[in-house]
Amino acid sequence: MSDSVLLARAFHYACKCHAQQKRKGAAGEPYVNHLADVARRVAEATNGTDINLIAAALLHDTIEDVGVSRDDLVIAFGEDVAALVVEVSDDKRLDKAERKRLQVVNAAGKSDRAKMLKLADKASNVRAMVVSPPGWPDRRKRDYADWAEAVAAGLRGVNETLEVELDAALEALRAHYR
Ligand code: ZN
Repeated sequence: MSDSVLLARAFHYACKCHAQQKRKGAAGEPYVNHLADVARRVAEATNGTDINLIAAALLHDTIEDVGVSRDDLVIAFGEDVAALVVEVSDDKRLDKAERKRLQVVNAAGKSDRAKMLKLADKASNVRAMVVSPPGWPDRRKRDYADWAEAVAAGLRGVNETLEVELDAALEALRAHYR
């Protein structure tokens, strides 16, 4: 499969999987906007050198949010893309607090590519909270920023650009809700 075919297929697959989902923010954007944002961030931060990582960014919530299986992704996109998506997916059998705790604990043990994807994901989510705030109390937004920063602590050292983007987004969020 050529790189452009892979990306077009991944984008189409993500659009189908997340067709009914919207972002939590006030603008109620289509969920796929987040996937495109994460894919753009990893693509730019790696100068477009890792096509499978960009495809995995488009697909990164298909297992967690839609119940797509690892095998489905292997068949459609190959082992490498599927493994990346698995690596950034939480285990939905656990409760939310435990999943959030494990993200902090497990971050440092991820592969460098999964770390980049997770950094881009956190930057996208934190930035979205500034641009299109969810109807959360300020306290909850501050807690989210603290948690995202704790996860990111284990993700640092693999990509300077993504770290700078995340730090800028965290600063912007905290400026709103200090
Ligand atoms: Zn995400």
